[in-house]
Amino acid sequence: MSRDEETPVGTEIRAEESAGAAGNGNQAQIERVASHVRAILVELGLDLTDHNLHDTHIRVAKMYDEMFHGLKEGAEPPVTTFPNDEEYSHMVMERDIPFYSMCSHHLVPFYGRAHIAYIPADRIIGLSKFARILDYYAKRPQLQERLTEQVVSFLEEKLHPLGAMVVIEARHLCVEMRGVKKPGALTVTSAIRGAFHQRPVREEFLDLLRRS
Ligand code: ZN
Repeated sequence: MSRDEETPVGTEIRAEESAGAAGNGNQAQIERVASHVRAILVELGLDLTDHNLHDTHIRVAKMYDEMFHGLKEGAEPPVTTFPNDEEYSHMVMERDIPFYSMCSHHLVPFYGRAHIAYIPADRIIGLSKFARILDYYAKRPQLQERLTEQVVSFLEEKLHPLGAMVVIEARHLCVEMRGVKKPGALTVTSAIRGAFHQRPVREEFLDLLRRS
């Protein structure tokens, strides 16, 4: 982030900086998290007089504040639904929606693309909402399986569609950087509701997905 580079060296967190994305109410929490991160760095024997590490604990604390935003009160995106006046009864799909999340088990990123579809009943939503719903559930310590389920459950709850389906394809850095080390491996998860339990409906989903 260019903003960090412009920041003069100093360990205190300026109010104006955290006022942006984080909000002033979070400043005390960010400071507490920063002090714990600093303790970890010290425990690991890192040289905190190295100017590259000097403010790292503060950057990490601010980054967590942003990455775990989905857990905060009021973070749930407002979802306005509209009456399905056209009586559209086919599949609506938004595919290749990028997302970034953090693995609950290791606190390192997993990221990829989501494909979200539903078949409307009485209500429809704006397609741009899919990305915001995905983001809301991605911005927290997360498991891919749970993320997939949470997105499809949200759609079911808010829209009561005839059916909904979510497929997520993701790379997990905890798999690629450590342990079994399988660079490039894709983990695919899916969750279905309602009409998508029928094979032809799922096939239509996959058909739309394959189309370039
Ligand atoms: Zn992990």
